[in-house]
Amino acid sequence: MNVALSANAFTVRFYFHGSLSFFLRREDRAEPITKYLREKTSVKDAIESCGVPHPEVDLICCDGQAVPFEHCLIADAIVDVHGVIDSPAKPGEGLQERSVTRFVADGHLGKLARDLRLLGFDVVYAPAASDSSLAASCSDDRALLTRDRRLLMHKIVRHGYCPRSQDPTEQILEVIRRFDLAKMIAPYTRCLQCNGLLAHANKMDVIEQLQPLTKIYYQDFRRCPGCGKIYWSGSHFGKLEARIERIRKALTT
Ligand SMILES: [Zn+2]
Repeated sequence: MNVALSANAFTVRFYFHGSLSFFLRREDRAEPITKYLREKTSVKDAIESCGVPHPEVDLICCDGQAVPFEHCLIADAIVDVHGVIDSPAKPGEGLQERSVTRFVADGHLGKLARDLRLLGFDVVYAPAASDSSLAASCSDDRALLTRDRRLLMHKIVRHGYCPRSQDPTEQILEVIRRFDLAKMIAPYTRCLQCNGLLAHANKMDVIEQLQPLTKIYYQDFRRCPGCGKIYWSGSHFGKLEARIERIRKALTT
């Protein structure tokens, strides 16, 4: 396409590598994306104008040189952009933290939030929260999980991830891999309902709240100090156990 450029205009070609192509329009995936710029623009803004949120970007090379998000484009350039999973960044060069263990999950990711809690991870999940309060909940050590790429582009968001799949099992695997969580899995340590850390409870302290058969057959109990829910390895744990096994198995294949 021929575009009449003004005197100060310049051309930047963006190559998005690996898993970042997920964010591009289908017709843009095979070619570099060409931007005709007329004024100095931060490389972060230019990348996001192509549809790729900054928390997904781990390495930006401008004419072969690694640059930070604040780098300003002022002249013709070729920009290579890499995601986290397949990042070729050298140690110290990557723009993203690898091992974030605390999360905020968007309202449409309820199953993912529950799975993360089941595996012991700290997840704030408030389905009715507005976009701005979700973004504001992301402190420096809490990553935002959402499939809303506009929300991920919010400037407050430091860490975040957009699950590529819509399937809950694929989503939990993606998050474990992206944030390097496999070695930190600690099932049954967190309340699935309210995210509280479970504490061991004496049977005598919770006995009034138990069903007659539970009183007879079970000895080990945990209680959530947040909402009071009691957990024990009874028959309802079968489904949770199967879920954990499924995730663990999928991680090793
Ligand atoms: Zn609870």
